[in-house]
Order: sequence, then structure tokens, then C-alpha cells
Amino acid sequence: MATETAFIAFGSNRGNRQDFCDRAIALMGLLPHSQVTGTSSYYETEPVDMPQHPNDTWFYNGVVRIETQLSPERLLEICQETERSLGRDSHDQNEPRTIDLDLLFFGQRIINTPPLTIPHPRLHQRRFVLIPLAELDPDFVHPQQQQTIQVLLDQLKDSHQVRKLDLTPGAHYRIGPSCSPPPTN
Ligand code: ADP
Ligand code: MG
Repeated sequence: MATETAFIAFGSNRGNRQDFCDRAIALMGLLPHSQVTGTSSYYETEPVDMPQHPNDTWFYNGVVRIETQLSPERLLEICQETERSLGRDSHDQNEPRTIDLDLLFFGQRIINTPPLTIPHPRLHQRRFVLIPLAELDPDFVHPQQQQTIQVLLDQLKDSHQVRKLDLTPGAHYRIGPSCSPPPTN
């Protein structure tokens, strides 16, 4: 089975946003036939494409990179199962969500089927996606735009605010290689 590099965006604007993002990252670390190879910082971001209410909670957003042998369809299914397991009960785009997981890229593949559009159709217009992506891989080329993430970000006109947070992603549920055994002496 071929290995591909996939990027998954996460976002939360309901409940304990940091905790939901931490849990989503921990669950990405448990995916079969896959390895998390990078996690961006967390960013607090102004809502985009939602009716504006003065009390709207801003999102926590970020991006995870994985190397995977799963198919893109299976990866989407697992993302949706993960959303459900973390209590996302609505798919109304205007409702606050405990966690939203979007598949951004799957290598250089272009997919347009009813359940799945890859690259994610709005990613190149969104500062809250391009900033964490650029942190992980500024030279990754968008297969349709034929531009690197850094160039897309430099050209972007999106004025929604994106603030980097001084938090350690996934800190409370650390699993995998970074969890080293206690020293023996
Ligand atoms: P949003 O566009 O705000 O993320 P939702 O998460 O509610 O909205 O959208 C989920 C729907 O989008 C699902 O039914 C899923 O099949 C579809 N979809 C299409 N392409 C993708 C993708 N690349 N990543 C995630 N969901 C996708
Ligand atoms: Mg989504």
C-alpha cells in the first residue's frame, strides 16, 4: 500500500476548545496504518462564513500532518467518527461545534465525489487554515492552484483575525513516540 501525506484541519468553538483540540490530536495519533508527523500551534480565530453575533465564540484552529496508508475515503470516515465521538451532534454549519475535522490535502490527489472534495475547496481563501499549514510545510504545492502554501498566504486578502496561542498542542493526552519511558538507573 502506498503511503501519502495528508493534512487535516481541526477547529472547535464550543465548550472547552483547547480540550477538544487536544483530544482530536490524540485520536489522530491512534489512526491505523498512519503516523502523525507534525502538529501546528493552536490559533484563536475570528469566525468566517457564519452569521455574526456579538457573542460568537472564536474558534481554536490548527492543522495535523499524517503519513497514511489509509484511503482518503476511509480517512474521511474516521474523521467523521472522531467528530461524533467528541460530541459533535449537528452538521448545521452555523451551529457551534465541539470539533470539526476537514481533510485538506491527500498528497497531490484531486478528488471530487459526493462525500469528498480534495483539496478542500476553501482552504486557499482562509487565513486560519493557511497559517497553520505554512507552519508545517510552507513549500507544499496546492495541486489545483499550483502555488505553494507560503505564496498563497502572501497573496491572501482574508482580513479575519488569527492569533497564535501560547499553548502546547495535545499536551494533556500525549501519546506515541514523544512519550518516552521513564529513565532506568
Ligand atoms: P464545514 O464545511 O464547515 O466543515 P461540515 O463539517 O458540516 O461543514 O461538512 C461536512 C460535509 O462535508 C460532510 O458531509 C463531508 O462529506 C463533506 N466533505 C466534502 N469534502 C470534505 C473534506 N475534504 N473534508 C471534510 N469533509 C468534507
Ligand atoms: Mg467539516
